[in-house]
Parts: sequence; structure tokens; C-alpha cells
Amino acid sequence: MADVLSKEQRAKCMSMVKSKNTKPEIQVRCFLFAHGFRFRLHRKDLPGKPDIVLPKYKIAIFVNGCFWHGHNCRYAKLPATNTEFWQEKIKGNVVRDTKNISELQRMGWRIYIIWQCELKPKLIETTLENLLRDIDNAKNYHS
Ligand SMILES: [Zn+2]
Repeated sequence: MADVLSKEQRAKCMSMVKSKNTKPEIQVRCFLFAHGFRFRLHRKDLPGKPDIVLPKYKIAIFVNGCFWHGHNCRYAKLPATNTEFWQEKIKGNVVRDTKNISELQRMGWRIYIIWQCELKPKLIETTLENLLRDIDNAKNYHS
């Protein structure tokens, strides 16, 4: 795989991946970019507008905020006030996510979900390595 980034660009990108102040989606994007992948963002023609799309491997990646997408983790704790309102709202999001994912799968896409909590400094390296491995598997599948 050709790596079109210069050494400096790559280093800059990888330091952004590890920075706590970078938005989760940018961290993932930068990591893939530094590894030579080319992708499309927020493809409106696909269900759920996946955050990152690797058309070559038919992989759609969602970078999900734990609260908004109802992750089963401590970062998704509902507020103490208006709890019922939030519960309904998040439930609606989860139902919509599930529907979009099965629609994408029917269209032959592989789905990869990255949760925001998986990008915390302690976990980010493992999370992104797993993503690379999954893309590799998809690569073999398509060749
Ligand atoms: Zn989470």
C-alpha cells in the first residue's frame, strides 16, 4: 500500500490521533489516513450517513458518542433531571441506528462501530489496531 503522506505529515497525524483534544472522528480519520487509506466522509446516499466510508472494501465506520447512541458504559449515564425525556430520546436513536445498520448490511456493507469510550488514551491503540485488522480481513475477502 502506497503511503502518500510525507514523514512529517504522518508524524503530525499520529500525534493528533493520540491527543486528547482531537475529536474522536478526526482521530480515527487521521489514523486511517496515516496508514494510507483513502475514504469518503458522511456519504448522504447511505443509510445513517456513516462517518467514514472505505468504498474499496465496502466498510462503513460509525464513530459513536456513548451518550447519544446509548452505549452500555459509564459515559452514557442519563442526566438526573428529565431522565424520562432523555431515555425516550436515546431509545429513539438506538432504534434508528439498528435500522440503518441492518439496511447497510443488506446492501452488502460491513459495519464497524467505534465507541467514543474506546478512544480514551488507554484504549485507543488497541481499538485502532483492531480496526486495521478488520479492514485487512475485508481486504482478503474482496480480493
Ligand atoms: Zn461507551
